[in-house]
Amino acid sequence: MNRPPGVDGAAFTGAADGDQRNDLTARSAVSSWLGISRDWATVRQVHGTNMVRALGPGELGEADGLWSEVPRLPLAVFTADCFGVVLHAGSAVGVAHAGWRGAAEGVVTALRAEMTAHGHPPIRAAIGPGIGPCCFEVGPDVAERFPDHVRETRWGATSVDLASVIRRELEGLDVWLLGTCTMHDESLYSHRRTGTAQRIATIAWVA
Ligand SMILES: [Zn+2]
Repeated sequence: MNRPPGVDGAAFTGAADGDQRNDLTARSAVSSWLGISRDWATVRQVHGTNMVRALGPGELGEADGLWSEVPRLPLAVFTADCFGVVLHAGSAVGVAHAGWRGAAEGVVTALRAEMTAHGHPPIRAAIGPGIGPCCFEVGPDVAERFPDHVRETRWGATSVDLASVIRRELEGLDVWLLGTCTMHDESLYSHRRTGTAQRIATIAWVA
């Protein structure tokens, strides 16, 4: 479990906390530890830029981000190599799921714009664990989408630094970046490393 400093209502789970998407017992344990409700608001993630305003718990349709001003309502997105991002506005919080497709289309910008349009411009952001440029090998079709963020993997293949792509969408905010690579840190779930269906949760709530 990682908690960004200075943000009361946010946490990123790891493999030690169990599969947060499919295992409700694991979710319940994490919720008690954090002192939050086990009834989370979630979405059916589709690698797009649709955003949902959460008024209560449950699965709230197809989207890749959600935000809320409801006190103590946990919002969550689930990842295993993609990045979970938290936006914090004091009176509201939001979470987004950002893989390369979402990052290319500006999923974090979409969340930021949606919160701002409703009178909650984010002040701070936290970027959780995700696949690093050390491991995120991509083909030319993906690399050409991010010409300023092309790097090399540890084995010398072409990669993309997705965290830096996301960071570009957070200009002007106070940003905390965990910087842990899911593919080579075995305390985290990585779809690329093991093909797992298990997921890390990025959770945020208005404290
Ligand atoms: Zn790595």
